[in-house]
Amino acid sequence: MMAQIKTAAQMSLHEKLTGLANNLWWSWHPEVGNVFAEIDPQLWTSLDHNPLLLLKEFTPDQLEKRAKELVLHSRVNWAYRRWHEYMQQTRTWGGTHAGVLGQRPVAYFSAEFGIHESLPVYSGGLGILAGDHLKSASDLGIPLVAVGLFYTQGYFKQTLNPEGWQQEDYSQIQISHLPLKPAVDKQGKEVAISVTTRTGVIFAKVWKVDVGRVPLYLLDANVPENSDEDRHLTARLYGGDQRTRIRQEVLLGIGGTRALMALGIRPAVVHMNEGHSAFAGLEVIRFRIKEDEVTFDDALRDAANSSVFTTHTPVPAGHDRFGADLIEEHLGPIRDELHLSHETLMGLGRVEPQNHQETFCMTVLAFKLSRRANAVSALHGVVSRRMWANLWPWRSDDEIPIGHITNGVHVPTWLAPQMRMLYDRVLPSNWSHRTSDPQMWADFASVSPGELWETHTTLKNGLITYVRSRQIAVAKKNNLPESMVEELGNVLDPQVLTIGFARRFAPYKRAGLILNNLDLLAELINDPHKPIQIVFSGKAHPADEPGKRILQDIIRISRDTRFRGKIVFLENYDISRARHLVQGVDVWLNNPRRPLEASGTSGQKVVLNGGLNCSILDGWWAEAYDGSNGFAIGNGRTHVNSDIQDRRDADDLYRVLKDEVIPLYYDRDRDDLPQAWINRMKRTITTLGWRFNADRMVMDYVRETYVPAAGGLSCEMKIR
Ligand SMILES: *Cc1c(COP(=O)(O)O)cnc(C)c1O
Repeated sequence: MMAQIKTAAQMSLHEKLTGLANNLWWSWHPEVGNVFAEIDPQLWTSLDHNPLLLLKEFTPDQLEKRAKELVLHSRVNWAYRRWHEYMQQTRTWGGTHAGVLGQRPVAYFSAEFGIHESLPVYSGGLGILAGDHLKSASDLGIPLVAVGLFYTQGYFKQTLNPEGWQQEDYSQIQISHLPLKPAVDKQGKEVAISVTTRTGVIFAKVWKVDVGRVPLYLLDANVPENSDEDRHLTARLYGGDQRTRIRQEVLLGIGGTRALMALGIRPAVVHMNEGHSAFAGLEVIRFRIKEDEVTFDDALRDAANSSVFTTHTPVPAGHDRFGADLIEEHLGPIRDELHLSHETLMGLGRVEPQNHQETFCMTVLAFKLSRRANAVSALHGVVSRRMWANLWPWRSDDEIPIGHITNGVHVPTWLAPQMRMLYDRVLPSNWSHRTSDPQMWADFASVSPGELWETHTTLKNGLITYVRSRQIAVAKKNNLPESMVEELGNVLDPQVLTIGFARRFAPYKRAGLILNNLDLLAELINDPHKPIQIVFSGKAHPADEPGKRILQDIIRISRDTRFRGKIVFLENYDISRARHLVQGVDVWLNNPRRPLEASGTSGQKVVLNGGLNCSILDGWWAEAYDGSNGFAIGNGRTHVNSDIQDRRDADDLYRVLKDEVIPLYYDRDRDDLPQAWINRMKRTITTLGWRFNADRMVMDYVRETYVPAAGGLSCEMKIR
């Protein structure tokens, strides 16, 4: 499609498949992924679903032969044609609603991007959200480019030692195995950038990844010009110390902005997804002053007018802070160019600019360098306005200029193919272009209960088979005796109410809450008539000892005779494992310590697939739950003493399981259908599908932030 002059008809099968594999568009079109999978299912699994690696295993002739055997030609041609049509589409939602962006796109900055498991440059929710944002922006035809870092070892792969303690494996990623190409400027020259610090220059090269129509640029410090230390600067996501962190952020914000300039891209809007990229604003200001000789204050005002900032967490540790020395070392040269004193620069990162005790906070900088800022759920908006009120001491609480745009998930990425077939039958034929339209989703109410239940049961069986195969694979790798391997092939029972709990093991998410009273839990799990079972998954940050201890507790308890085969831990939570879990569980459990879960998105993926959420009224669930579309733990109360709150929430959790969830699930009619449960599944999809998806989210960003920031007609963001 790019420089090739060959028409599709002249291209070999190998060329077409390589074309498809080089644009991550394939990753949200399961019918394309299935073609790769069918070529060699085992290889596909062992290669982390990486199509480029798969294709390397075949010569064009071998591939041709394989395709003949499997009758793949017409499917490849069809996929290739659809991809072409997608890339060339001109009539899009963005075309009519984001016209003001025209030739000058939105630049979306994020420290992580979770697009597909084969590109491991994400750790959790923030990255997945960024990935889903790009996919929806592409689908909607929003002019948007994305900027991030390329981590040559990515985030770690999780294994557990015999004591159940988390081990982190890092391995060098081969660039030739990924759909990365050197980014080139208009002259076709490879783009390289540098940032000067007081102690030397940091260099980086720039890679380009195609995410549908959206280009993602990733900066990579592993270049020969760099010192040994800096060659490792972008080795690991969230690795290293404070100094590594600030150098990564200098590269992301300042380097990323320079990369765009070098590419000839002059963004109309800068969107900082979390504070990590807030230095971008300083570079925009510097550029403006150099180009137009305006004053610093004018340049700052202009930069802020065209910048959007999304804050993602009320947890204090989630806001980067740097001491004066690190700031001076890394921003000294840019400060000289801007003619700012050290104290003035420090003031930009302080709530009280004159307060010398205050360190430099990236979130504060981001607020000061953007005129539009938002939290990621209604409740998180309230919490953020309170949390940052001191930045606007002259305003009352409800005048603090932080709005909210609630997170959503990318439907084609998270919807199971079997469920999609059901949508195709029940919803209007153009449903996938109308995912933010409540009327469209209302039609799902007419689905037949038997059909919905059968689809769900198929997906649940798929999850259980998957968990068993993962357990066996891990056991074999650890050389466990054959008898144990066999036992692992029988974990979980498809007839039993299955609860999923998967997320980062940050302590505030309280993965261990349901283990609070083991005797009570044993009763629920071993009930002769109405048993339950639980699948856990999740990584703890390498430096998070308390998180690792919670994980170890779960492993220990899963080995207890009362819980064996009924509480199961799935190693190495990633996008692939998340997909299986959210598509197959009956119930998705979420019990963070309110109000610390800014939004949460995994439960939204469950919604699309007909699972029911059972959650603390925090983040997105506080605005989603209506009494009939899932289950609530507690009533939104909080207690200043977190031990008391934890105990109270655990009691509430057991109560809601015992009194509501379990009876509803096992209440069957003559055909063994849980009619009331199925009704709740329908209510979940009809009331929540339209609100908590990424198309709706990106449309909100366009209307409420991008268009006004680009100078178009303003549409005020919801504050309350
Ligand atoms: C969706 C997702 C998350 C975020 O889930 P939360 O509900 O925000 O905890 C984290 N990791 C993976 C792999 C995911 O797919």
